[in-house]
Amino acid sequence: METLFTKIRDGKIPSKKIWSDELCYSILDINPVNKGHALVISNEPYRNIGECPDATLSHMILVAKKIEAKMREAFGCDGSNIMINNDPASGQEVPHLHIHVIPRYDNDGKGFKLAHCEYSEGEMDKVRALLETR
Ligand code: AMP
Repeated sequence: METLFTKIRDGKIPSKKIWSDELCYSILDINPVNKGHALVISNEPYRNIGECPDATLSHMILVAKKIEAKMREAFGCDGSNIMINNDPASGQEVPHLHIHVIPRYDNDGKGFKLAHCEYSEGEMDKVRALLETR
C-alpha cells in the first residue's frame, strides 16, 4: 500500500530527513508545533502500533530517544512530547505509523490537555480487571 509516508520514504515527495535505517526513517514535520518537531516513521506502512512488529516498534522508540536527546543538545529545549496518534479516533491523519518528537519549552504556550471523564462508584475496579495484563 502506498501512503504519503512511503512516497516520502521513496523520495517521490521532498522532505528534510534526519535519520534513515532498515526499519524506520525520520523527517521534520512540515507543520511543526515547535521548530525541529520530527516524525519517526516506520519504513513499512503499518497503520498502527498493533500492526507493527515488536522489534520495529522498540527500535522506533529508541530512535525517537536519540532524536530527542539531539534536540535538547541543539536547541536547549526543556522537555518534549513523544506521542503516537494511533488510528483516526485519536486524531491520526496519516494512516502510517509515526512517532511525533516535539521539542517543548517552559511556558512555550503550546499547551497539551485532553478532556477528562469520571469513574462512577466501583467502576475503576471493573476497568482495572478488564485491563489487567500478564
Ligand atoms: P498525525 O495527525 O499524527 O497523523 O500526524 C501527521 C503529521 O504529518 C502532521 O503533524 C503533519 O504536519 C505531518 N505532515 C503531513 N504532510 C507532511 C509532509 N509532506 N512532510 C512532513 N510532514 C508532513
